[in-house]
This record gives sequence, C-alpha cells and structure tokens, in this order.
Amino acid sequence: MMKAMVIDRVQEITPKGKPLRLVEIPIPEPSSDEVLVRISVCGVCHTELDEIEGRTPPSRFPMVPGHQVVGNIVKTGSGVSSNRVGERVGVAWIFSACGECGFCKTGMENLCDNFLATGRDANGGYAEYMSAPIDNVYKIPDIFTDAEAAPLLCAGAVGYRALSLAEVTNGDFIGLTGFGASAHIIVKLLRYQQPETKIFVFARREEERGFAKELGAFWVGDITDDAPEKLNAIIDTTPAWKPVVEGLRNLQKAGRLVINAIRKEDQDKSYLQYLSYKNHLWNEKEIKSVANITTIDVNEFLTLADEAKIKPHVEEFPIEAANKVLAALKFKKIKGAKVLRIAQMIK
Ligand SMILES: [Zn+2]
Ligand SMILES: [Zn+2]
Repeated sequence: MMKAMVIDRVQEITPKGKPLRLVEIPIPEPSSDEVLVRISVCGVCHTELDEIEGRTPPSRFPMVPGHQVVGNIVKTGSGVSSNRVGERVGVAWIFSACGECGFCKTGMENLCDNFLATGRDANGGYAEYMSAPIDNVYKIPDIFTDAEAAPLLCAGAVGYRALSLAEVTNGDFIGLTGFGASAHIIVKLLRYQQPETKIFVFARREEERGFAKELGAFWVGDITDDAPEKLNAIIDTTPAWKPVVEGLRNLQKAGRLVINAIRKEDQDKSYLQYLSYKNHLWNEKEIKSVANITTIDVNEFLTLADEAKIKPHVEEFPIEAANKVLAALKFKKIKGAKVLRIAQMIK
C-alpha cells in the first residue's frame, strides 16, 4: 500500500479548507508500456485549483492530482527494458495521447481530443508512487535537484511553448501579466535566449513586482498601468480577464497576446465590457491561447534549461501541507514555484 492525497469531489477552495484527503491505496502495477516511479517531489500548479474547483474536473474520483512529478524508476512493465530501473525521471501534464489523430501524427498531441492528463484523468504525483507510459517520462538533467526540476515540467515547459507562440525576436518589447511560477521562468529564459529583449511586467502585488525587477525586468507596474512603450507581445499567466483587456490596450499594432492559462475564472468576467474593438483589437492585434504542452516542448525545454542553467525559485513544503499550499496559491501568498516533498511520506 502507499499514501496519497486525493480529490474526492469538486468543491470551492477556502482559506482554511481541506480539499485533499490523505488515503492509503494500492501501489499501482505498471502495464506493459509503463514504468513505476517512486516519487521524490511533485510541483504544485494552478491547474490543481481548476481541477478541484471544477473548471477542468477530474474524470473520476478519487483522483490523485499533480503533474510536475520527479522520482526514480523502480519497476518496468513487460514491454520496457529493465535497464531503465534507477533512472531519475519526470512526468508532466500529458499522460498519454491517442497517437492516431491528425494532431498526434504531427507532433501536436497537446490538441488531441483523447489525451489523458496526469492528475486529472490518471493518478498523478501527490503520492508515493505512480505509473506512467515510458514514452511520456523525461530524463532529468543532472544539474537540477529534484525540487528544481519539478516546476520545469509544467510552469517552465508551458512558458517555453507560450514564448514560441508569441514569436518574440531579440530586441522586442515583451510584456508579462501576472508573475508566478511560469512567468519567472520565462524571464530567465528570455534573458538567456534573447538578451536584448526588454521585459515589462504587470503584477498586482508589490512583492511580485520587486521579484520581477530582481530577475531583470526592464519595467514593472500594476495590471492597469500604461507601459512606457507599446509591446510587441504579451504573455498572460493570470486566471483573470482584466489583464487580457489591459494587455491588449498596451499592445503595439500587429502585436500578439498569448494566454497561458488552462481556464479563466469568471469572477471578473464583467471587465470584458471595457473591451473596445478600436482600442484593443484594431490594427491587426491578435489573441491566442496556449493549450497544454507536447513531449517535444518538454524535451526541448529541459535541454535548454540544462544549457542555460535555468533554476527556478522554489519553495518546498511537506506533502502534509498540500491543502495549505493550494489555499496559499489561490489567495496569492507565495512567490516563485511551490513543490511538495513526497519522499517523507514513506517514513
Ligand atoms: Zn501545470
Ligand atoms: Zn490524438
């Protein structure tokens, strides 16, 4: 048997709520194309809030959440070489995809209608063990600790995908609205890949703006501020609508706003009434969403992060604190990326 934290039902997360329950369940048996991973750490992602609160609910209950998983292979299925045992690997958001649709065949399995998401459709990393298909586990470069590697698997990889969709070229003015786990890795990536790019960060809290400045942002301001320049691209990592409307206003002609959020929350949807065609969309401005990540994104980004030594700012918590960390994430009390230490559960 193993310990795991599970989602039992859709519910609203409150400051002192306990949406996850600690349970004992059987250690999974890897099927022929899978490996069993003994988990060391699992990153905490905003998507867990979307799963618990029902914006992208688990496909069955109870479900073990968590899709930024780092651990070691301890057992292989009959179709996988036992030489892989001992390897340190990561598991990310895409657990498996159909492999047969037009999207899968062209390396865009992020858009597959039948993909299964780790921690939403298949048990994830808030547990001592998980099994995952060998084709969807990633070798972790040696320079990263387990805790540093976890946020690279979602926050980092999806930031990398958002940047390529934004089509940033070196020297551009680029905006970031919101400054959490993903945005702070995007800044590190930009500083390495396109060092002439000027980064403008819009964030609600003084602490986030200070952190952005520290990492090399050229300008920081509040969500509703006017940037001193019109921006070629903006990546929005917030769950709200206000930053989209305000972002479009700050875009240069022909600029593109990329929304990096699996779901938007409805609380401030009324802000869309301020959207005007003339001020926000005219002159060939574009909006695009970034959906999930592909195995290519994760592999390319891990290689790049290794080369650039992109180490995320990580705060670590014991797994028992998972409910508290989720509330802190919802009510914006922590900076950088959050990781749960799982190995301790085994004691
Ligand atoms: Zn995620
Ligand atoms: Zn497919």
